[in-house]
Amino acid sequence: MKNLQLLIIPERCKECGLCRDACPKQLLITEDNINSSGYHPVSLPNAEKCSLCGNCILVCPDLAIIYEEVS
Ligand code: SF4
Ligand code: SF4
Repeated sequence: MKNLQLLIIPERCKECGLCRDACPKQLLITEDNINSSGYHPVSLPNAEKCSLCGNCILVCPDLAIIYEEVS
């Protein structure tokens, strides 16, 4: 049985903040570190609280957040 979880690809993030605004649980935070393009990527430290609603995936213009299948 496969389940879904969120996968954030930090190198694609441009720090626009759209996903943070779209999350009904305010789970996405901006990291202190920077990616190779000089942006602070978002992360999901409390992933167990994520409902997998997909709002953040829909609004990200850079496809930096995707669903990942886990077994
Ligand atoms: S899938 Fe929904 S609950 Fe989970 S981080 Fe994205 S917007 Fe928040
Ligand atoms: S919407 Fe995408 S590019 Fe913008 S901060 Fe979120 S993950 Fe990064």
